[in-house]
Amino acid sequence: MDNKKTLYRRYRPSNFNDLVGHDTVKDILESQLKKRSITHAMIFAGQRGTGKTSLARIFAKVIQCKKPINDIDPCNNCNSCNEFNRESHPDFFEIDAASNNGIDEIRSIKANITTLPALSKYKVYIIDEVHMLSNSAFNALLKTLEEPPKHVIFILATTEQNKIPPTIISRCHVYNFNKLNLYDMKKKLIEVSTLEGYTLNEEVANEIFYISDGSLRDALNYLEQCMTVSENVITIDKLKKLFYVSSKLEKINLLINVFKKNIDYVITMINDFDKKGIDFSIFLLGLLEILKEIIEYKICNNKLYLKVLEEEEAKNFLSFHTSSIIQLTDLLTEAYVKTKNTSIGVQIILLQITKFHFNKLISVNSEASPLQYEKKDLNDKTLVEQNKKQNIKETDKSNAHVSENVFNNKTILSLDDDKKDYQLKELLRNNINNDINVYFDNSKVINELINANKEKRLLIENKLNDFFSLLDLENDLSNILIPLYSSKVVASSNECAIFVLDNITLTNWIINKLEINEIRDKIFNFFEIQFLIPITKEQWIHIKTEFMDLKNQNKLPTYIKQDYNSFSYKKTKLSDDKEDKFLNDVKEHFNDFDIEVEK
Ligand SMILES: [Zn+2]
Repeated sequence: MDNKKTLYRRYRPSNFNDLVGHDTVKDILESQLKKRSITHAMIFAGQRGTGKTSLARIFAKVIQCKKPINDIDPCNNCNSCNEFNRESHPDFFEIDAASNNGIDEIRSIKANITTLPALSKYKVYIIDEVHMLSNSAFNALLKTLEEPPKHVIFILATTEQNKIPPTIISRCHVYNFNKLNLYDMKKKLIEVSTLEGYTLNEEVANEIFYISDGSLRDALNYLEQCMTVSENVITIDKLKKLFYVSSKLEKINLLINVFKKNIDYVITMINDFDKKGIDFSIFLLGLLEILKEIIEYKICNNKLYLKVLEEEEAKNFLSFHTSSIIQLTDLLTEAYVKTKNTSIGVQIILLQITKFHFNKLISVNSEASPLQYEKKDLNDKTLVEQNKKQNIKETDKSNAHVSENVFNNKTILSLDDDKKDYQLKELLRNNINNDINVYFDNSKVINELINANKEKRLLIENKLNDFFSLLDLENDLSNILIPLYSSKVVASSNECAIFVLDNITLTNWIINKLEINEIRDKIFNFFEIQFLIPITKEQWIHIKTEFMDLKNQNKLPTYIKQDYNSFSYKKTKLSDDKEDKFLNDVKEHFNDFDIEVEK
């Protein structure tokens, strides 16, 4: 590394072809050059390090060149090009608005534009980071932009277009510079490495792409640092020495274990990444890229979609259902949004993965049978043994609940076969998706609402927020309260709190815990209450409506004091023979579709 110039400066593009990405903007500018019809005021907007200033310089150089090659490339031979290369062109001005508020610069531009160019047809002014100009500088610039002389061209570059006054924007053509895509950046990184005498492992190129967040300048800086610790080949181990990133193999391993529901392994792995100081938003980006490829590969059965994964690697995921993969992708996307700029990335990922682990997966999927019910794996070793047993029992119950509804709907059985199949499927699906919580009837909840007070609700809400923002996964209580993570405390009296949970699975989950005396006491002590009512969103909507109706009609009953010890979290269960009858009915009607019903 004899050359003192950084890689980024050394490999700065000198013509349109060298510039990576931004094909649309390049097309527009090239077409202006070919038609010799140049826009007088332009805004180049986009993220840092994507090539805005580089492209502005190339464009300026070609405009000023005396004999451009094919109209779009500088000849590098004429006196204009020579002056440009010596950085002493009399008609080219580059101003950095970030270094001062710019009023003096803009005033001198105003004075300067009235004189004709010395060497070329145009005077070109690039104002970098233009959003940093002060208000008075913007006003001065506006006057200049209102009636610019024909020989003047302005290129305003910015990373924050929203900070530019609309009056300025309306006088300019705006060109957006997107983040570089994986393909373009990888190509450039490999090209630069080869020219520098290094072999760049493709996996490393992928990781550099993720950590640089689409900025080529950052990416080349990372590459340069890797070169300082590498001999000839830049491997993932070298990159890991400098920045803590996870390898592709580690990511694939993690995903496979998430799908196989080896939750112990997954938690250990993520905690291990956390100890090493991984940046979880970058880690998630890598996971999402892999998941996206798997989905495309599975749906289209075409290896052309594989850019990060090898086909052999993608095949590992063929046995997992597409709907599960999509569901995990959704949850991790949510996690990605939440992990940006936060120090609790590890907790968010763990919670989202646990959510995935416990969610019931029901989907109607065209690629497989019309109705599929993915079995919920209950072998979660992180729960205490006792709780585990309760959980399995509870799942039986909730299926029994679904069963009851389908079984009782006798009208279906008299319809003709096609309709029968269809309606039975619909009914089954609706019942699974919109399972109604039957633990507490509306009147019990309304009675508690009458006695509720805002102060206690806020106290509980704050307790819960504090708990999750300082979440310590080693703490026993974390394991107990996790189902309440995305819940909402809708009301509370000094004795009893009402929690609304996203779905029946989470509601069942917390109820399973409440059935165990020891755990129940811990929860109640934590919130300083004597009772907790968990309900689903759906039930809450009904109760709220009923409560408001009663209130509006002045018909709210008086509060009846409760003996909370007599409340039960138990639910009645269908008798076994009824269940068998139901299963037989369902199997009979679904045999064509290979339906799996969990018993
Ligand atoms: Zn030239």
